Amino acid sequence: MKIYNFTIKTGKRTELIDVTQTVEDFIVKYGNGEGLCLVYSPHTTTAVIINEVYDPDVAFDINRFLDNLAPKNNNYRHAEGNSDAHIKAAIIGNSRILPYSGNKLILGRWEGIFLCEFDGPRQRNINIILI
Ligand code: ZN
Repeated sequence: MKIYNFTIKTGKRTELIDVTQTVEDFIVKYGNGEGLCLVYSPHTTTAVIINEVYDPDVAFDINRFLDNLAPKNNNYRHAEGNSDAHIKAAIIGNSRILPYSGNKLILGRWEGIFLCEFDGPRQRNINIILI
């Protein structure tokens, strides 16, 4: 198992950022030909998803749906004022595991990996664990 890390600076409070190419760069450089790639964002207010990157309206719609599902203000108790972000992160999860072969991710034609920022803008870490 090999563990790598990169950082990303998010630009908005909520946004979905395509990190597919960066993840693939690690696999090309450090992969074992084939195996599993765990993408893990160690934060309580981010998530990692696999979804369509081809049409940016898909990411927009997912983000807006989540904003409606967990509104920013909803009489939450958590004093930090970001309970909506914690809830989104909790229900989605902050890691995904993907197979790779030929040192390329096995993804569907329109698929990619998104870091979901729910409480930005901030600097975020993403761990790439090659198994
Ligand atoms: Zn908080």
